[in-house]
Amino acid sequence: MPRTRFVLNTFKEQIVSIENTTTETSASFATLGLNPAILKAVEESGYTTPTPIQAQAIPEVLAGHDLMASAQTGTGKTAAFILPALHRIAEPPVVRSKGPRVLVLTPTRELAQQVSDAAAKYGKNMRLKVVSILGGMPYPLQNKLLSSPVDILVATPGRLIDHIERGRIDFSRLEMLVLDEADRMLDMGFIDDVERIAAATPATRQTLLFSATLDGVIGNLANRLLKSPKRITVAAQKARHENIEQRLMYVDDMAHKNRLLDHLLRDTELSQALVFTATKRDADDLADNLMAQGHSAAALHGDMSQRERNRTLLSMRRGQVRVLVATDVAARGIDVAGISHVINFDLPKFAEDYVHRIGRTGRAGASGIAVSFASNRDTPHLKKIERFTGHSIAAHTIAGMEPRFKPRPQPASPRGKPGGFSRHTAPDSRHARPEGGRREGHSHNRFDSSAPRHGGNTATPGQTRRPASSFTLGRGHNSGNR
Ligand code: AMP
Repeated sequence: MPRTRFVLNTFKEQIVSIENTTTETSASFATLGLNPAILKAVEESGYTTPTPIQAQAIPEVLAGHDLMASAQTGTGKTAAFILPALHRIAEPPVVRSKGPRVLVLTPTRELAQQVSDAAAKYGKNMRLKVVSILGGMPYPLQNKLLSSPVDILVATPGRLIDHIERGRIDFSRLEMLVLDEADRMLDMGFIDDVERIAAATPATRQTLLFSATLDGVIGNLANRLLKSPKRITVAAQKARHENIEQRLMYVDDMAHKNRLLDHLLRDTELSQALVFTATKRDADDLADNLMAQGHSAAALHGDMSQRERNRTLLSMRRGQVRVLVATDVAARGIDVAGISHVINFDLPKFAEDYVHRIGRTGRAGASGIAVSFASNRDTPHLKKIERFTGHSIAAHTIAGMEPRFKPRPQPASPRGKPGGFSRHTAPDSRHARPEGGRREGHSHNRFDSSAPRHGGNTATPGQTRRPASSFTLGRGHNSGNR
């Protein structure tokens, strides 16, 4: 059972902190007080037991409280806010207008798509219109979508601000504002946009904030936007990755990395893989190189149009693409059940991204394998990741492909943990061209300069050209925005 205690924190009021140290709950969805149409859809999804974040958050939200919850992707957090949001929408609106009744802000388009899909899935037995307003999509279509009544609006902050400034959104009947992955929105520089959007909504709204962490800047933001929030913390993500086997492979150089990757991808146990590179250009180059080697591969990164990104993800979901090469930003929110392997071709720049990356496999209870390549000079960075996760990643080798170099021994861990964590680590200088950075052309492919070039980065044999989604779920429609 959850432990409930009162804590004093930086907030003016005492707030309730419910800490759950387990990943199991004994509650059933039926006891949460949700509308029967929603319960039926949840049942039809095959979910029988609420996850801890759902069991704790849903009753608080239904009771009308503001909420700040520390829960990461993979915990079932999307349903934790979408189910009570739908419950509200099942009731008639208090104010008559065409504006949205629920607004969900997400850091990335992929996460927005996932939220829209969840709303469609759990709201399929209701009359419901969900609209996504995302960057990279045509304005005229978005204007049209906003011109008739909207129930749930899912948006990335930048594009929504554009519409607000043009006076195209009426927030007069907004009842609920959800900030999903608020920490990531702040990391991506959206804090001013988020505050401006919140300021454009009615003060009477209910506000829910979901974030990996609730401290520091997030705490300050919550202090400004939330009223007497309930606070919920679910078990840390690191405790939730028991179903993912984490492996480390030391690499000598790029040629060695490429050989290992090719070998891993030829494993028949691997159904689908998500391969992470540090930069967009590397994602393109590596996908091209893998295709040249005969793999069914595609790239996914922030330089691609939303249509291309949707199309690529749909191909992945349909199993038409086996290997997706992605950057961190684009991979956020990917929820493809068939991903059996995550391969960190390049280690993530930030240790917390490691947790997000490996969480792309082992979805919804399945098991998964996460392989990280690391060279000798990655050792300090690797230790940062291990310190963050509290988990020492076991080194693996493949017979005949062992590394020549011997990893540098690290100073003993201050906490005496395996892995010998070093407290003072040098910054990783390899990531000079991050996802958000400037693109410098495609003159050199660091993976294989002899690889033949391909015209497109998402083309694979048999791949569909049909767009992955439309932008709206029409009233009475069940799967309009899939
Ligand atoms: P999220 O943390 O929202 O990204 O959800 C992670 C995954 O868990 C998604 O594939 C959901 O469809 C799935 N999920 C959500 N709620 C449940 C539940 N109560 N039982 C089992 N799986 C769930």
